[in-house]
Amino acid sequence: MKILNPGDCIGIIGGGQLGRMMAVEAYQLGFKIAVLDPDPQAPLCQIADERIIADYSDPHAIAELGRVASAVTYEFENVDAGVLAELDREGRLFPNARLLAISQDRIQEKAAFRRLGLKTAGYLAVDPAAVREPLNQVERYPVIVKTARGGYDGHGQRRCANSGELQSVMDEWHDIPLVIEQYVPFDKEISVVLTRDQHGHLVDFGAIENHHQNGILDFSVSPAAVPDSIRDRAVSYAYRLAVELGLVGTMAVEFFVAGEEVLVNEMAPRPHNSGHLTIEAFEFSQFAQHIRAVAGLPLGNHHQLSAAAMANLLGDIWTDHSALPDFSAALAVPATHLHLYGKRVARAGRKMGHLTVLAESPTTALRRADQARKALTAPH
Ligand code: AMP
Repeated sequence: MKILNPGDCIGIIGGGQLGRMMAVEAYQLGFKIAVLDPDPQAPLCQIADERIIADYSDPHAIAELGRVASAVTYEFENVDAGVLAELDREGRLFPNARLLAISQDRIQEKAAFRRLGLKTAGYLAVDPAAVREPLNQVERYPVIVKTARGGYDGHGQRRCANSGELQSVMDEWHDIPLVIEQYVPFDKEISVVLTRDQHGHLVDFGAIENHHQNGILDFSVSPAAVPDSIRDRAVSYAYRLAVELGLVGTMAVEFFVAGEEVLVNEMAPRPHNSGHLTIEAFEFSQFAQHIRAVAGLPLGNHHQLSAAAMANLLGDIWTDHSALPDFSAALAVPATHLHLYGKRVARAGRKMGHLTVLAESPTTALRRADQARKALTAPH
């Protein structure tokens, strides 16, 4: 284990908002940041000490990042785990390459969940070579078809109500591995964000409740309104994954809660959109804990300061209205924190920023977050 000193450089693969929020914490501890991203205008590229402008999986660029940085992390999963093998062997890649490879592929990921005794929705893994067979094996509809690799924010998945719809999706995606998943009529979606340090100590942020719109996270609320027994089971599942897969850094695990059942949906070996509210709601945020873990430092405590709700700000807020969002109207809502990621171009569905609102209860926080976001576009 190597403990980083102030002035040492942390390399981040991916220059998006997650990397930028990691960097803010790293700077507070006196570290330098090098970023690898193809877009020189990406949110983290705007503030990093060193920029390597190249494709995420370019082996020369990764080698360069390894030269300038003492430790390397990543802010999204779709990096070729193979090109990170050397950094991983040297013990300078956090989280490790095996965990990254598993979480990149829904088939491997679900197999790992089951192997470790976690419950998932019923599913079939579909090999492109065996396209026809799975149709006969689906006993109940609806199902959700997901591409095994590369999906995000609702991309790469389709809901099918009957065998005809399933057939046409499978015809369209005939040449790629897929997962056909039973649709879960869940009561709630929750996530557990947790951090493990290089000595194996763990901290978590409890259960966070998530509301999606069109497959994209819309609101997150902490703490989630679930019984303690459900929260404890989700947290213990997340701990099992973190320990068994050798996590170092911050990870998120997403669950469906259906009655008494807690089904694991997917994991992300990095800070997560549902954990953004930890910046204000916890003494140490998911980003602060992540940087501590990567730097070989002890974790901060897991003390929650306040209930909170987070509302994502998608590009639609910019593109659907002729005027700029009215940020001062949103900030007039009590205890509202605004985060903008510095993206130059707003597009529908693109995450441009978020609002976090603290309040005495999660329901009040959610109501105010909704109010603050609506204020951005209210006519005045
Ligand atoms: P995912 O990319 O797997 O996180 O899916 C994105 C969102 O789609 C989830 O957060 C759910 O809201 C919904 N979803 C995905 N899989 C299922 C499922 N098996 N049953 C019901 N809803 C699902």
